[in-house]
Amino acid sequence: MAVLPLVWKSPVLSGQTLTTEVVIIGAGPCGLFQVFELGLLGIGAHLVDSLQHPGGQCSELYPEKPIYDIPALPVCGAQELVDRLMKQIEPFHPTFHLGQEVVEFARQENGRFHVRTTMGTTFDAGAVVIAAGVGSFQPRRIGIDGSEAFEGSTLHYRVKNSSTLQGQNLVIFGGGDSALDWTLELLSKARSVTLVHRRAEYRAAPASVARMQEHVTAGRMRMFEALPHSFIVDNGALRGVNIKARDGTMHALAADQLLVFFGLHPKLGPIAEWGLELEKKALKVDTEKFQTSLPGVYAVGDINTYPGKKKLILSGFHEAALAAFAIQHHLYPQKKQFLQYTTTSPIMHQRLGVPD
Ligand SMILES: Cc1cc2nc3c(=O)[nH]c(=O)nc-3n(C[C@H](O)[C@H](O)[C@H](O)COP(=O)(O)OP(=O)(O)OC[C@H]3O[C@@H](n4cnc5c(N)ncnc54)[C@H](O)[C@@H]3O)c2cc1C
Repeated sequence: MAVLPLVWKSPVLSGQTLTTEVVIIGAGPCGLFQVFELGLLGIGAHLVDSLQHPGGQCSELYPEKPIYDIPALPVCGAQELVDRLMKQIEPFHPTFHLGQEVVEFARQENGRFHVRTTMGTTFDAGAVVIAAGVGSFQPRRIGIDGSEAFEGSTLHYRVKNSSTLQGQNLVIFGGGDSALDWTLELLSKARSVTLVHRRAEYRAAPASVARMQEHVTAGRMRMFEALPHSFIVDNGALRGVNIKARDGTMHALAADQLLVFFGLHPKLGPIAEWGLELEKKALKVDTEKFQTSLPGVYAVGDINTYPGKKKLILSGFHEAALAAFAIQHHLYPQKKQFLQYTTTSPIMHQRLGVPD
């Protein structure tokens, strides 16, 4: 997966309340294009995504696959599309809050919205756009009972700070790029590294797999074809993990830290509990404003449903354009609306930073 520069990481310290015109939940292609359509109308937005990078499904699930049905781009890589959208919204300087899930949402008495993330970033927003796709991507868990007790201390689904793993005995699970990249990266830092993958074939880049196998042959690390079975616990502290090989034999691996990279899966999560009208796990919207059952809250992209809905990027782009006009009217009902062309509108040129 292509990792974009970290300049989009949240510049905001937890605990602050940010007052903004619009909060967009989800930085997939439709959330990104929503920034553009709002920006053309002079409306600013903050974007929140539970992933560490923008791009939604395109970046997370199929970054290198070509897309053939984006208008005027006969073929475009999925990550390339995200990179192009990021470039297109640059003039509007949206603020990204990445690696944080929106978990709290409420309409305030004054008609504005309270939105809060897992990192404690709180917004006071005039309107909210839910562009949450198929839901927020969550790590697939290790699947051993009682694992929650160790999460964040000795069991990790992402590496927040690799220096804390220095000099530790590590057992890493997984066979994709994350598992292999971290195995190779941590080999020089950790006291020992053991990689456990359920089968002989890997999804990771062949070059990384070859490097890992060289390290195994040279005795610098160990590798097992097995599944996690149970934790080794002493006085409530995690001391290692028992694994079950394909032939049924069990191995006890001592470990200070377990790193699990079984990939991510989408979960609709808290959005389902916000009291908005749902149909088959999607938010019901009208096709004029793409507004949900709560005025001031809009939904674009894969998360919404209406008669004839097709879950295509192109549909989400259209929805974002119409939602932007509706949001402008919601925020500034006195303002007269004009349809302006980007080719000829001086105000749009100014907003886009185009010299006239
Ligand atoms: C393999 C594959 C191939 C595809 N090919 C095509 C194609 O050729 N053409 C096409 O048009 N479409 C294609 N699609 C579909 C396309 O990717 C989706 O329609 C598109 O990604 C939807 O964009 P979105 O912005 O609505 O949602 P997503 O891309 O799903 O992004 C939603 C984002 O919201 C975030 N999020 C969700 N809930 C929360 C929360 N509570 N807090 C914070 N963040 C949250 C998620 O982490 C995610 O990043 C393909 C899909 C797949 C899987």
